[in-house]
Amino acid sequence: MNRFSKIFFPQLIVPKNAVVKNQELHSKSQKLMIDTGLIKHCGNGTYYILPLLQRSMEKLIRIIDKYMSEIDGQKLTMPTLTAADLWKKSGRFETAATELMITKDRHERTQILSPTHEESVTNLIASISPVSYKSLPLRLYQITPKFRDELRPKFGLLRAKEFLMKDMYTFDINLEKAKKTYDAVNEQYAKILNHLKVPFVKITADTGNMGGKISHEYHIITEIGEDSIISCPKCCHAINRELAKDGKICEKCCENDLKNEQGIEIGHTFILEDRYSKLLKASFLNKSGKPEYLQMGCYGIGVTRLIAASIELFSSETEIRWSQELAPYKVCILPPKEGSKEEAITTHLDMEIYNNLSHLDDIIIDDRTHMTIGKRLMDMKKLGIPYLIVIGSKSADSQNPSIEVHDLKNNYVNDMSINDAINYVEKCLKT
Ligand SMILES: [Zn+2]
Repeated sequence: MNRFSKIFFPQLIVPKNAVVKNQELHSKSQKLMIDTGLIKHCGNGTYYILPLLQRSMEKLIRIIDKYMSEIDGQKLTMPTLTAADLWKKSGRFETAATELMITKDRHERTQILSPTHEESVTNLIASISPVSYKSLPLRLYQITPKFRDELRPKFGLLRAKEFLMKDMYTFDINLEKAKKTYDAVNEQYAKILNHLKVPFVKITADTGNMGGKISHEYHIITEIGEDSIISCPKCCHAINRELAKDGKICEKCCENDLKNEQGIEIGHTFILEDRYSKLLKASFLNKSGKPEYLQMGCYGIGVTRLIAASIELFSSETEIRWSQELAPYKVCILPPKEGSKEEAITTHLDMEIYNNLSHLDDIIIDDRTHMTIGKRLMDMKKLGIPYLIVIGSKSADSQNPSIEVHDLKNNYVNDMSINDAINYVEKCLKT
């Protein structure tokens, strides 16, 4: 049985009137996640992901896995450490140098705590090259910690030095097939975000130092986002300001009343063509037995960043609201305070409701009954558990016992019979 009394979520209690330093560096999501014990600051730009948020993260990983397996994505794990020599070959050791986390082992060999794995995965395929055209397309991905030496880490998980990222690398026989793969992966990215019911914009992006010519970014629009996005309300064409030739007129439909917004980048897709395969000699044998270089694509989703960005988007200043799919638990039952007269009359009611909903596997009891219902209710609202079932004084009414249901998603509170409450929650969770 899931009980809050057993969960490690060290809440931050800030005394009233306390002066909070460095407030300009705090985002809403960072503050709320620290206050509720979802994360804890570790060192400069690094965070502990605590058990409640770990649960959310694993939910997101399962969702990503589902949509990647639909397009034959195969999950693997590449070493976090990549030889600097490999990055020197691609030229990125120099171009990305300021953001690379570099280590040296006892033999003075330089390695990188990888921010991304184009070199590494291409090296893997090169080591077994040429592969047969029959084994293509090949779509490999991992969900692992990545590292970036941020000059100014800020906003908690939105800009950290260590973060969890899903990165996929694809290999095709020609550019036409690589574009098919590109469309297929992009389609799955939209499906993942729609599954989460997180509104997003997909924009034409800069390929930066990745190589290739086609690239898109996925953004969540919020005012603390660090990318400027120009979008056309008429044809929905959207572009990163960095790429705009003219920031005043839509380049697709010539509309001149464009929207300027700030976005948090949570996904990025690229067609790399043969930039890495040619350099590192990753090839395949075509139908006539001749070797050719593989056409590649790469695709990222910032897993921890997506969770933080969705919290940023949905929450108020004082209470977390989740994409329902990512809430650590979906239903919480709050039994009466210990020693209260309700407690004596409603014994076992919490268990009865729990057992009726336990098939959801996302239900928990806030059994910290040494605390008042009011205090626990405040905690659970702040944590944003979507459905709260309160066993209070009305539950002790011998004529017409009822329980209070808080539906945070629809901002709705009502007294219901036990059966109605169970049905209500089940119905809401199905939609
Ligand atoms: Zn337009």
